[in-house]
Amino acid sequence: MHFATKAIHVGQAPESTTGAVVVPIFQTSTYAQEAPGVHKGHEYSRTTNPTRDALQECLASLEGAQYGLAFASGMAAISTVLLSLSSGDHIVSSDDVYGGTFRVFDKVFTRHGLKYTLVDTSDVAAVAAALRPETKIVWVETPTNPLLRITDIAAVAQLCKARGVLLAVDNTFMSPALQRPLELGADLVVHSTTKYIGGHSDVVGGFLATNNSALHDQLKFLQNAAGGVPGPFDSWLTLRGLKTLALRMDAHCKSAQQIAEHLVAHRQVESVLYPGLPSHPGHAIHMRQASGGGGIITFRVKGGLDHARRVCSATKLFFLAESLGGVESLIEHPAIMTHASVPAAQRAARGIGDNLIRISVGIEHIADLLADLDQALAQT
Ligand SMILES: *Cc1c(COP(=O)(O)O)cnc(C)c1O
Repeated sequence: MHFATKAIHVGQAPESTTGAVVVPIFQTSTYAQEAPGVHKGHEYSRTTNPTRDALQECLASLEGAQYGLAFASGMAAISTVLLSLSSGDHIVSSDDVYGGTFRVFDKVFTRHGLKYTLVDTSDVAAVAAALRPETKIVWVETPTNPLLRITDIAAVAQLCKARGVLLAVDNTFMSPALQRPLELGADLVVHSTTKYIGGHSDVVGGFLATNNSALHDQLKFLQNAAGGVPGPFDSWLTLRGLKTLALRMDAHCKSAQQIAEHLVAHRQVESVLYPGLPSHPGHAIHMRQASGGGGIITFRVKGGLDHARRVCSATKLFFLAESLGGVESLIEHPAIMTHASVPAAQRAARGIGDNLIRISVGIEHIADLLADLDQALAQT
């Protein structure tokens, strides 16, 4: 079965008692048993729920995974992975990892004995040099946020296999429609389904997918033990979003490519970062491991902080908001908004300057999006 078909059919057979073609929202916490211990496969909804099961089965299949687990948020999924570690274990992570991921490494799990090292994972030799005997996981985001740096997933996977370390890839920015890390050798895929998978900015969720049955068993145990599960309605909304994922990702990529090329030629724009541009340093690797540039573009305006602030405040269709991956276009200023918690010196060192703007290109008509950006960039 092809991707677009799986998204609509896997785990979603018509409901057996009524024939409903849409998986129902099983809004129940518990299930009646015929006799103690005799039940229809469900006992309590933290452990299993049929609506969540449908989402887990469908999304796992889209990642090419045998196993999938849904969570209440991306951070709940990530925290559950970290709960599988023990005091003294070590993680090597991308240095411009999602801010919430860094925060939970640094402010929460270090108190329980987690050690971590941040490296530029686009440099495979740097990843190799950071590995220690106690390293359990290499954590990669590609493309990263907001600079869209690219890591060669297959190369890092090869290194991890040779050293007996698990490779986890946060695939939020690409979604399985564009990039499937397990097929490239990763052990675990991590998602914030809040973004492209849900796709409509109306639900928060997370996901883990793997083909490693021992790892799955451990994570499934922790899903129930720690309890970071999504409710039935959130599972249903995410499953509904999933059905149009392939169509939406095509539209995001097509418009983002046109907007990136338009911005490159714009006289108010200093530079543009977009993996779909041949000028992007990770372009060749990205296009080998993913089937599109995605919907996120980062660019620097020539007029500094004041100009960046005016542009962000002047767009009408691009809403000024954090998050990304929805049908509506968003604009944001990383230094003031999503990356404000990164100390200014570190931001500057990483290239997150005050003239940097990030946009999430939605699926509105391309002509309207280009016109909105042009009128906002003219606010010099
Ligand atoms: C948003 C995001 C997360 C966190 O997910 P939530 O659903 O907000 O908890 C993790 N990783 C990446 C790359 C994200 O964009």
